[in-house]
Amino acid sequence: GIIIEGLSKQYGYGDTAFLALKNVNMHVAPGEVVGLIGPSGSGKSTLLKCLGAVIDPTAGRMTLGDEVIFDGAWHVKDLRALRRDKIGFVFQAPYLIPFLDVLDNVALLPMLAGVDNTTARKQALELLTALDVQHRASAMPSQLSGGEQQRVAIARGLVNRPPVILADEPTAPLDSVRALAVIRMLNDMAKRFETAVIVVTHDEKIIPTFKRIYHIRDGETHEEVGEGRALG
Ligand code: ADP
Ligand code: ADP
Repeated sequence: GIIIEGLSKQYGYGDTAFLALKNVNMHVAPGEVVGLIGPSGSGKSTLLKCLGAVIDPTAGRMTLGDEVIFDGAWHVKDLRALRRDKIGFVFQAPYLIPFLDVLDNVALLPMLAGVDNTTARKQALELLTALDVQHRASAMPSQLSGGEQQRVAIARGLVNRPPVILADEPTAPLDSVRALAVIRMLNDMAKRFETAVIVVTHDEKIIPTFKRIYHIRDGETHEEVGEGRALG
């Protein structure tokens, strides 16, 4: 899981200093999916970028699994390896690589992590099968429907079995049925791989599915119990 304690982020210095995150506290257990909801400019991207080790928090502590990864400074030797192996990203636009087939789009991450090609492709096929798109393994991304592309993107986010998945508006362009299917898959995958999942969203179709929600406004978070509507 992930634990965030007293996290703050200041952009700029002196007269132009701006506190985009103020004492953010958040925890997500292994296997849990939480929503992160807030208006534009509230600090959602900043929080995701801190969690994803894309920018440096100013203060606070972040724990991933049983490892303190940030405590006023990074406690990780290799931030690139952290981003690649410990954190899975799922975006609104799937950003698949157009000149690689579906299997290699997913296998690329383990390959980059040093896994041999045969094993990487085996791992990729396993994830594609779990998400029920294995029959599209040799298709090119441009040949896939939007829903299939999103499944492949989720497979890619999960293939290195990261303890944390950050999903940024993963359902925005999808209709209600497909949006709920994506959330069901994220929930299934979270349980199956003991992954902690944070879904940034303002999609009214999926908000009732969360059991816990963090609201963010002006860089401050408030936790709330969600409806936790059954996903069927
Ligand atoms: P959201 O993702 O919720 O729209 P952001 O995290 O992008 O919010 O932004 C939060 C606040 O921080 C906004 O007021 C934004 O203008 C400001 N901000 C974001 N990035 C920077 C930056 N690199 N430099 C200065 N201010 C920034
Ligand atoms: P989003 O809400 O999707 O994050 P934004 O327009 O807020 O989109 O931000 C787009 C990019 O510009 C982000 O990388 C953000 O960090 C950066 N940014 C946002 N506000 C500022 C700002 N005031 N100064 C510098 N960079 C900013």
